[in-house]
Amino acid sequence: MTEHHSDDCLFCKIIAGDIPSIKLYEDDRTYVFMDIMPQTRGHHLIIPKYHAQDFFDLPIDWANACLATAQKMAIAAKAGLESDGVRIMQLNGAAAGQTVFHYHVHVMPVMKGESMALHARDMEKPDVLQPIADKIIAAL
Ligand code: AMP
Ligand code: ZN
Repeated sequence: MTEHHSDDCLFCKIIAGDIPSIKLYEDDRTYVFMDIMPQTRGHHLIIPKYHAQDFFDLPIDWANACLATAQKMAIAAKAGLESDGVRIMQLNGAAAGQTVFHYHVHVMPVMKGESMALHARDMEKPDVLQPIADKIIAAL
């Protein structure tokens, strides 16, 4: 169960396994899964197992845990997908483009010259995402 759990939060439900996700990694404090509307190949999300709406609400030890996991994932994604770079993004508030109100860090591997798809727009199929996830997992 997520600490500070919220019953009507999509990402709390993903952590609880009530909504399916393509999981890449999990530890005591964080959970990592593929973004269903990827902006680049290998786009995934790090979430704390603590329900906080955004960076303003998240206790700093949980934010630190997310950043540590983001570094671990960025290294694995870069190696596993042979990407040229990795973009890290984190949005706070609807005005900033946030659409899911459980704090999360976006990790987006990028190839040289690759353009980014629109934010939270086009859904990708699980059978396309799973083999990409497997490559990242293999590099962890
Ligand atoms: P943000 O706009 O920063 O709040 O990002 C929310 C992200 O969650 C977007 O990139 C969405 O594509 C992604 N997303 C929304 N629903 C799901 C879901 N059920 N599984 C995986 N990713 C999701
Ligand atoms: Zn939540």
